Amino acid sequence: MNNVYTREEFNQRRLAAKQAIRSDSIFAAVTSVFVGLGSLGFLQWINPILTRPERIGESLATFGFFIIIVGWMLIDLQKTSHQAVLTYPQCNTPLEGDTERIAAATSRCKKCGGLVIAE
Ligand SMILES: [Zn+2]
Repeated sequence: MNNVYTREEFNQRRLAAKQAIRSDSIFAAVTSVFVGLGSLGFLQWINPILTRPERIGESLATFGFFIIIVGWMLIDLQKTSHQAVLTYPQCNTPLEGDTERIAAATSRCKKCGGLVIAE
């Protein structure tokens, strides 16, 4: 027999998941902006020193670095939201978006109809 959430536990875990995802999203957004600005500043600084062919290589390398940082943060954000999200006790379906709102409103799983929240 799998556990069913209490209403309080359900609400707390739902809130904790949203906060974890929100703080990770803010971190990713702010870091992307700073890394982007840092990359542009670096190119601005290095370009006068380099010859034209070197500039192209340097620009591509800097852009690649930016893409790697942003990509890594997006993967991390995906991981955080995957770990933070609640799952239905009976069928392990992730509680996200509509399925989460339906569970909150009806206390039941959208997919299998199993009880999610014991009132
Ligand atoms: Zn289910």
